[in-house]
Amino acid sequence: MDFEDFTVAEKPTTLQQLKKLDEERTKLLQGAKADALARAEEAINELTVLGFDYELVEPARATARKSRTIARKGSAPDHHPRGMCPICGCATNPPHDKRSHKSQTKKKPFTDAELAAKGMKLAA
Ligand SMILES: [Zn+2]
Repeated sequence: MDFEDFTVAEKPTTLQQLKKLDEERTKLLQGAKADALARAEEAINELTVLGFDYELVEPARATARKSRTIARKGSAPDHHPRGMCPICGCATNPPHDKRSHKSQTKKKPFTDAELAAKGMKLAA
């Protein structure tokens, strides 16, 4: 038997090196993000102390905006129905808001399956 071609494991492959670099990049990014967030939160706390009510919000992604156009048909453009979620871009029954998306690392509209799992339905 000849396994020689298979057993060169002492040196990481390019792919493994890339993966490691990717992990490092993610780690660096997360660290930088955490730093920036901490500073932003500090600034917001300062604003709060001064009597200004600000909130740090991640904007909804472009996909949410797209589905909002679809969900908007039939309702007045500038009047958002009560309980409309800014991330999903539509209302559900029972209503929810962006706080329901807190568990998502990347904020995105709930899928039909996720809505069903939460016992929510899209409100037409
Ligand atoms: Zn939502």
